[in-house]
Amino acid sequence: MCGILGICGSDSVVGEVYNGLNALQHRGQDSAGIITYDGQFHLKKGNGLVQNIFSVKNIERLGGNIGIGHVRYPTVGGGDAEDAQPFYINSPFGIAMAHNGNVTNHFELREELEKKGRYHINSSCDVEVILNVFADELLRVKSQEQMAETIFRAVVRLFKRVEGSYSVVGIIANKGLFAFRDPHGIKPLIFGRRGNDYCFASESVALDILGYQVERDVAPGEVIFIQQQTPFFKAQREIFSNSPSAIRNSQSHTPCIFEWIYFARPDSVLDGINVYEARLRLGEELAKEVSKRALKTDIVVPVPDSAKPAALALSSLLKLPYREALVKNRYIGRTFIMSSQEDRENTVKQKLNPIKSKIKDKRVLLVDDSIVRGTTSREIVNLVKNAGAKEVSLAITCPPLRYPCVYGIDMQTKKEFIARNKDEEKIAREIGVNKLVYQTLDGLIRAVSIRPFVFSSGRTAKNKYCTACFTGIYPTKISEKMFKEIERDRLKAQCSGVTTF
Ligand code: SF4
Repeated sequence: MCGILGICGSDSVVGEVYNGLNALQHRGQDSAGIITYDGQFHLKKGNGLVQNIFSVKNIERLGGNIGIGHVRYPTVGGGDAEDAQPFYINSPFGIAMAHNGNVTNHFELREELEKKGRYHINSSCDVEVILNVFADELLRVKSQEQMAETIFRAVVRLFKRVEGSYSVVGIIANKGLFAFRDPHGIKPLIFGRRGNDYCFASESVALDILGYQVERDVAPGEVIFIQQQTPFFKAQREIFSNSPSAIRNSQSHTPCIFEWIYFARPDSVLDGINVYEARLRLGEELAKEVSKRALKTDIVVPVPDSAKPAALALSSLLKLPYREALVKNRYIGRTFIMSSQEDRENTVKQKLNPIKSKIKDKRVLLVDDSIVRGTTSREIVNLVKNAGAKEVSLAITCPPLRYPCVYGIDMQTKKEFIARNKDEEKIAREIGVNKLVYQTLDGLIRAVSIRPFVFSSGRTAKNKYCTACFTGIYPTKISEKMFKEIERDRLKAQCSGVTTF
């Protein structure tokens, strides 16, 4: 999970890219970067939060009316500053790129590219692989055709080589802004318009705060190119999309269902589905499961923030008092994104504080979005018990997580999951709760699937989702070798003490 943004505006865009990245900060707190173009590329990137990396001085240096930005949640690649995105290469044309996702065959592609001798991959960040494959394909298809056609043909060839998940924004020097989404549309990407200005972003919230009207989601397998001729400022722009062939390129549309459970901001709409509304429905579905158990509850308490809408809906359906009795320190990062086990444990204590008067002598039903390793849940349960709760139970808005995510989420080794080889009762004992209630897979899918995806042609496709971390069924081709390579990379990073995930 990372956040990406690309803007082609009528004036200097760096301020907007900066503000847009702030709106996407929840998607990655590890590093951030912005590259702009005004006849030459200007880049600033580094480790940390958007607000800490950019100063008035370095923002002034980033001139140009076209720019892309990135906030990183690291997947492939270390936590070093040189792995921060965006990346750029000088040939052909000069191309800058940022992406959200994870290239599952990046080891093979890296080898293949380096064997050619022409390409040298400098970092361990997989966008560099996508960028070089794109450059390679542009050189192959470069022709007298219109630039848009050249890009479309190059990306369609890239789709055949690059496996995994990737939503991409990029700049081609002196040509314009492009964006594309992998043929399964696993990671979100949406675009909007404000007069003659265009903005692509991971989530609609960035378009909202920047004042862009949402045009639509980028379709799986779609490439969009915003062409502008020099002089850049106030130039008339043309928008090109490979939309008709995108339908051919797209395989089944399987967006990551975890976006609606946890990752995305509740005020975003992804692939036409409102995140807040989906979370309310997750609570309604979960209420059905809770009501099947003999559970005596005095208050329902959400684990802030992503579980709040679900807890609210669940409490209202079960006619139980809803109390926000865990208070979050907003200035501490999301625990899910923390690097090491030690970081995660310490952060829970610093991050949440119970309101003892609401909890004391109560039978508390906590509602949380997920359990990965179980460490965070155990810590939270202890906090609530120490605050005087008579009994603590836990309801989870998603099913048990049992399989690694190979598409860019920090759960890549099988051993990490507390639910891997355990049933609800055993997990409940390990976490220290009276009862543990999980969402069912059907309940999850019902809660999120409220409308079909609509392509720009008007054709609709019934939403399927990536649910691989619950089911082990992956929408893209994943060989056992790939699993091992990804797992080995992950373990190596953990052992070396590098802050990677
Ligand atoms: S495996 Fe899970 S977290 Fe990863 S993309 Fe699929 S649904 Fe999302």
